[in-house]
Amino acid sequence: MKCFDCPRECGVDRTEKLGFCREQSNIRISKIIENFMWEEPCITGEKGVLAIFFSGCNLRCKFCQNYEISHIGKGESYTPKEFKDLLLSYDLTKFSAIDLITPSQFSSQIYEALKDINLPIPIVWNSNGYEKVETINKVSQVVDVFLVDFKYYDSKLSEELSCAKDYFAIASQAITQMSLLKENIFEKDLLKQGVLIRHLVIPGHSNDSCKVLDFIKQNIKSPIIALMSQFTPIPQSPIQRKLLPLEFKAVCAHAKKLGLDRGYFQELSSSSKDFIPKF
Ligand code: SF4
Repeated sequence: MKCFDCPRECGVDRTEKLGFCREQSNIRISKIIENFMWEEPCITGEKGVLAIFFSGCNLRCKFCQNYEISHIGKGESYTPKEFKDLLLSYDLTKFSAIDLITPSQFSSQIYEALKDINLPIPIVWNSNGYEKVETINKVSQVVDVFLVDFKYYDSKLSEELSCAKDYFAIASQAITQMSLLKENIFEKDLLKQGVLIRHLVIPGHSNDSCKVLDFIKQNIKSPIIALMSQFTPIPQSPIQRKLLPLEFKAVCAHAKKLGLDRGYFQELSSSSKDFIPKF
């Protein structure tokens, strides 16, 4: 079957040919980490999540911290049935949630795997925001929380760093739809259902971050945000410096001025290669 699952709309039969995401027709998983704590506290809770890192990516940002899996594509193959059996093989009560990391290139296969099962913990769709509204409507039937990046406002910037001139047009619609589909519901301090919007401030582009925040303020009801400062230059990145404290402070101040104070503001000390998982 030809793949039109994401906005790239490659139209390739992935059993024969690779599209932009360079993925096959089966799900591929690069790594699974149990009790993973490197997400926001309302997602990880005290137990951590069952983190599943999928191979490939439909955005392939040039500064990606998971370069080995998003660009090089290491991974083990699973049919939807095998993926379902894999999830059911875990004692899921040991985790706060199942964290599906960079899942968009397998949205049809993951939907197929999850559509008939009820799991005891929330399923988190941890994606880059470059997704079709139809796909969001479909996966929202099987996931509970959208943990979504909102990366860029400017089309030149998104083209330069992610080969996606239309990123803002696409992501703004996808994230708006997510927030319409999933009202935020907390149980104690854990987000059981809802949307958490992440934004990584890019060195030299704090104005772009402010425009993303303006959109969130104007269009998303009661948003929970996570502002991140952890940009870490990798050799392949066109941007070869870290974020300056002043740049991050300016974006945080803008968020506060807009009243976007529900969420997380990362410490600048998070910008380190120590925070990049080994694959
Ligand atoms: S999921 Fe992959 S093959 Fe399918 S449209 Fe997107 S980039 Fe292309």
